[in-house]
Amino acid sequence: MIGGGYVGLVSGACLAAFGANVTVIEHDPARLDRLKTGTMPIYEPGLEELVAAQRQAGRLAFSGDLATALQKSRAVFIAVGTPTRRGSGHADLSYVHAAARAIATHAPDGLLIVTKSTVPVGTGRQVAAIVRQARPDLTFHIASNPEFLREGHAIADFMQPDRVIIGLEEQLGAPSTARTLLETLYAPLSGPEGRLLFMGLESAELTKYAANAFLAMKVTFANEMADLCEATGGQIADVTRGMGMDPRIGPHFLTPGPGYGGSCFPKDTQALATSARQAGTPTQLIETTIAANEARKRRLAERILALAGGDITRCTIAVLGLTFKAHTDDMRQAPALTILPLLHEAGATLRAHDPQGMETACTLLPKGITYTATPLQAAEGADMLLVLTEWPTFAALTPGQLAPRMRGRLVLDYRQIWRKDEWLEAGFHYHCLGSAPLP
Ligand code: NAD
Repeated sequence: MIGGGYVGLVSGACLAAFGANVTVIEHDPARLDRLKTGTMPIYEPGLEELVAAQRQAGRLAFSGDLATALQKSRAVFIAVGTPTRRGSGHADLSYVHAAARAIATHAPDGLLIVTKSTVPVGTGRQVAAIVRQARPDLTFHIASNPEFLREGHAIADFMQPDRVIIGLEEQLGAPSTARTLLETLYAPLSGPEGRLLFMGLESAELTKYAANAFLAMKVTFANEMADLCEATGGQIADVTRGMGMDPRIGPHFLTPGPGYGGSCFPKDTQALATSARQAGTPTQLIETTIAANEARKRRLAERILALAGGDITRCTIAVLGLTFKAHTDDMRQAPALTILPLLHEAGATLRAHDPQGMETACTLLPKGITYTATPLQAAEGADMLLVLTEWPTFAALTPGQLAPRMRGRLVLDYRQIWRKDEWLEAGFHYHCLGSAPLP
């Protein structure tokens, strides 16, 4: 498994739990050291225990030495990052290509090379071309196996997936070596009720982007309906409940929020839009989704400035939550990274708390923001409470705990974690998304 990040580490540990012998190859020496000492470089519930158990069982190891690991491997997974290339919407495939070149140098005959990273359509064949060019005589197989796990639920998602998408070069005729090997690796998920879905390489690559783009679009649609509710007196919770009970729509990903973020939706929508433009079939829906999501984060910041009466310089804001969602330390493309700099630049005093994200957030956000050890400390002297992440520890806070610490009485619950009536009864002004604020 090349790459010891969210996907490589979780996939490696889970495939070991399925019975495979896995070596996770990580090229960042600091990260590798941590892995070797059993300290997880990322926060993911249950991961440390799973990794420890699989290492103890002798099925999971960490190394920086791909050459040695490949000599005893029948399959290699590429699970490296594919960020957005600077200055364009393209996926940066430099890590994938570097991994392909390293594999080509050391691959034993008959190796199955699987792309697990999220990559634009055509990348699997590029990987094959890189290997073929370097080693024309090598026999190898190529597959695409995009990963659908969600940070925060990664282990359960991997162990009990809705489906495992596997793209192969050939689908007809007798089961290929690649198919048989992947069925063996995913044996607990195969069988008559199997969740393995085989298709062509291109279809598998597109399935991952199409699924993420569709979800990003669904979130953005809910955000726009929330704005419409606010402007017209509707209640988004009622509207989305009514929509979601239609099985053709479904209830998930319809909760309004401060805009989608994270390491996947922003870059995957960009990459899909770019691939589609290049293919001469632009995806207008996705292009619009990207623009609407960017605008939303800025508009929320402007709304907060307006609530402060235009002069926010004397306003202290307690920010609860920095990560793009709960149960992760991932700060990539978090809405906080757009909203907080705008508030800071306008002169607001910001006091922030996040259970997992502060270590990274303080390197990405402007200097001068105070980070506190608890959410209650963030609320000390605050005029407003701004909820940006739906951490359960925040949902458990009550107006009775917060009121004595705060100077003002304004709550901006942009994750719908609290019950409006409780705050109104305690004398707060309570704003959430998708419901017209009461005075
Ligand atoms: P990450 O940045 O957390 O991890 C990538 C790791 O690979 C890093 O530790 C890096 O040091 C290592 N690496 C890069 N090149 C290497 C090389 N040549 N040899 C050894 N190690 C190398 O990234 P991630 O979040 O795990 O994402 C990996 C891929 O999976 C991306 O394409 C992403 O889009 C996709 N994905 C991510 C998620 C998610 O929730 N994070 C979910 C599904 C799919």
